[in-house]
Amino acid sequence: MHPFTYTRVSDTREAIDAGRRSGRFVAGGTTLVDLMRETVERPEYLVDISGLPLHEVSTTARGGLRIGALVTMAEAAAHPKVRTLFPVVSEALELSASAQLRNMATIGGNIMQRTRCAYFRDVTADCNKRQPGSGCSAQQGFNRTHAILGTSDSCVATHPSDVAVAFAALEATVHLLGADGTREVAFADFLLRPGSTPNREQRIRDGELITAVEIPALPTPLASGYLKVRDRQSYEFALASAAVALHVRGGVIREAKVAAGGVGTVPWKLPAVERRLIGERPSEDLWTQAAAQAADGSRPLRHNKFKVELLKRTVERQLRIVGGTK
Ligand code: SF4
Repeated sequence: MHPFTYTRVSDTREAIDAGRRSGRFVAGGTTLVDLMRETVERPEYLVDISGLPLHEVSTTARGGLRIGALVTMAEAAAHPKVRTLFPVVSEALELSASAQLRNMATIGGNIMQRTRCAYFRDVTADCNKRQPGSGCSAQQGFNRTHAILGTSDSCVATHPSDVAVAFAALEATVHLLGADGTREVAFADFLLRPGSTPNREQRIRDGELITAVEIPALPTPLASGYLKVRDRQSYEFALASAAVALHVRGGVIREAKVAAGGVGTVPWKLPAVERRLIGERPSEDLWTQAAAQAADGSRPLRHNKFKVELLKRTVERQLRIVGGTK
């Protein structure tokens, strides 16, 4: 591990000042410390923000739910408001990582976590995300777990977060605080597709701090849930996942929020699937027809062609679980 300076801050203004001086924020440390041990990340100045007052889950004046950036994954998953209003968020969190990690890792850190592409973590391999311009070992290498949607010639790595898929589906907003004040970024815009600059992963300015993620008010009753398909049932990343939320009134689907994980370079919103569902009555045929569009535009690689069908089946199954059949 490379030497670094460590400082602990107790208020957000102190944190922003430290961020402006090239400080790198750390809270749970469950991603960053691993990457520092592997020398993938070599920050010179670590700013511990775990003592900042960003630990609350609260309802907003707009009727949404605001989850503080330092709420741990375990706390968010178990929170009565999250469980009641958005089970899709609780389920995505509970299917992530291990119990020990969920007790340490925070919501802000979770959406900032970096890819699990093995070549990214191997400092002897070419990787445009770690070292821009060096190449992408995954394109011709072993790419079974990589993305089929949103890829570029520069990078085909998936985004690893589960809860980010739920946030994408629900059209959440990321709240940021920086030297110029506060701002909000739609979740759909916050995580960046690789394009020709896969080293740029989030729409966040130098020194900016995530303060919260806000889920907007959605019509009730809202049935929702998260399905994760993986090689083993514990402590494993998704090969494909689906976050689904449906509002059905008078026997008709009035609102549909659907996104997929494990298949895209970012959590993959599925607007075509949503459009196919809205205005229809739940039925077996509807789930099949809507899910058939889930992999539109996909570009599978040599070892992950199976993800095209897996994605469609995962979405179909989760639509059936959340929507039931009439
Ligand atoms: Fe690096 Fe992305 Fe290629 Fe993986 S897929 S080796 S992260 S450039």
